[in-house]
Amino acid sequence: MIRLRRHTKAVLLENKSAWSKDAKKAWIGGDHPIVVQSMTTTDTADVDKTLEQVYALAMAGCEVVRVTCQDTRDAAGLPQIVARSPVPIVADVHFDHRMALAAIEAGVAKLRLNPGNITDPVKTREVVKLAVERGTPIRIGVNMGSLARDLEQTLGHTPEALAASALRHVEILEELGHTDIVISVKAHDAVTTIYSYRLLAKQLDARGTPYPLHLGVTEAGLPREGTIKSSIGLGVLLFEGIGDTLRVSLAADPVEEVPVAWGILKALGLREKGFDITACPSCGRAEIEVVELARMVEAIAKEYNAPVKVAVMGCVVNGPGESKMADVGIAGGKGKGAIYRKGELVGTYPEADLLGRLRLEIEKVIEEQYPDYRHEIHREATTV
Ligand code: SF4
Repeated sequence: MIRLRRHTKAVLLENKSAWSKDAKKAWIGGDHPIVVQSMTTTDTADVDKTLEQVYALAMAGCEVVRVTCQDTRDAAGLPQIVARSPVPIVADVHFDHRMALAAIEAGVAKLRLNPGNITDPVKTREVVKLAVERGTPIRIGVNMGSLARDLEQTLGHTPEALAASALRHVEILEELGHTDIVISVKAHDAVTTIYSYRLLAKQLDARGTPYPLHLGVTEAGLPREGTIKSSIGLGVLLFEGIGDTLRVSLAADPVEEVPVAWGILKALGLREKGFDITACPSCGRAEIEVVELARMVEAIAKEYNAPVKVAVMGCVVNGPGESKMADVGIAGGKGKGAIYRKGELVGTYPEADLLGRLRLEIEKVIEEQYPDYRHEIHREATTV
């Protein structure tokens, strides 16, 4: 199944620290994989706490982390954060151009900044000039809750207003010679988000400036609701080939955002990471404890990054078929289960032995198909 992705400009994010030779990089756009992002909730001035959260996010699979930079205390913490971070760092700056200058000087990989919000054109020019000199990309991030007043009055809270607002900021950057641009146009509901990004993508492509898009449903809510909204809003866009990076915004520990983002990308077949577990919902026919077993498989999955397909099925109705299609599968029988590996029956075992046998077969698949994954886990674990 081939799906087309919108053609976009590739933008390089790279931490630039004089203290660290090992520059952390990520590409957004072009043919590069869609990047998972999140944002810290710590006080940026507290360097150790912020880095602890950056590492937790990176361990969960976050590839770019944004931190706020709203005052001189935050700005003072940035050089150390950039130097010690395992992933590219983005500084989130609003109105104060001095914070933008400090963040660029600190070597951040990207700024999130709406240049039109710096009301003095001389100061805007100063920031953009330094960003061009240092090769610091800028994400323009327009949210429905912070539209320019004139656009709000003429166009209302619409996709048209969001796209027009984003393009105003784009024009400011372009006039000052900055074109390493990423853009987001976030609304708090899935439908407006979908229409807004579609419209913006069309307008950018029509003017011959296919800047990459950072997807997000802003303030999506508590984990359950936020996951649903984000899966629909971002999922539809990604399915249409729109979007180069994403952040799932949940009212929760940001580490919780990362598996949701990965789940969206995996469900669409856009990225691979960790196990893909098929589990039947169980029903009156189930002859083993399917849900409990699936949860245990999920726990095993946390130990590996390898994209192994595992099926846990309760009975013989769909069990053997699904199990044969997975890398490793279980089809339940009366107090026992048949285990399959790569479509072949390995054997039938009592229920008490199923998890152990399943793990054994999963490890065989990893050894054969993904021999590097164990090293990968060890390497990640030792960087913290
Ligand atoms: S596989 Fe069997 S136990 Fe599971 S939902 Fe289907 S019929 Fe029920």
